Amino acid sequence: MSETDFYDFERLLDKAYEELPENVKSHRSRFEVPAAQVTIAGNRTIIENFADIAEAMNREPSHLLKFLLREVATAGTLEGRRAVLQGRFTPYLIANKLKKYLKEFVICPVCGSPDTKIIKKGRFYFLKCEACGAETPIPHL
Ligand SMILES: [Zn+2]
Repeated sequence: MSETDFYDFERLLDKAYEELPENVKSHRSRFEVPAAQVTIAGNRTIIENFADIAEAMNREPSHLLKFLLREVATAGTLEGRRAVLQGRFTPYLIANKLKKYLKEFVICPVCGSPDTKIIKKGRFYFLKCEACGAETPIPHL
């Protein structure tokens, strides 16, 4: 795949990245999320490689889908490795929503590492960073 097949999320994070120690910087180079393969069929939008995208982000496809459906205000389902959305959405819009998910639910806002997981404490959810240990409150989907 060429470089343009991947989200250019790195530019967003360059400022934070400049001050990181080397062991954290190494996370960035191996984090690659495939671009969405979007097909429009009738009045439905199909993201063919949806499970691949979620796995690259180390997130449950159902969590990513919930976010996406809320963002574009529609209904949809997982069908195997694909996600099927009611309505017609451009690849550009889908890509932007996936970037938003990365920013809000994957990338540590403190150090920029994608090595994070979602944890629950009581009624609240946090993005727990494996690289720097930060716990950042996140909304519940
Ligand atoms: Zn961090």
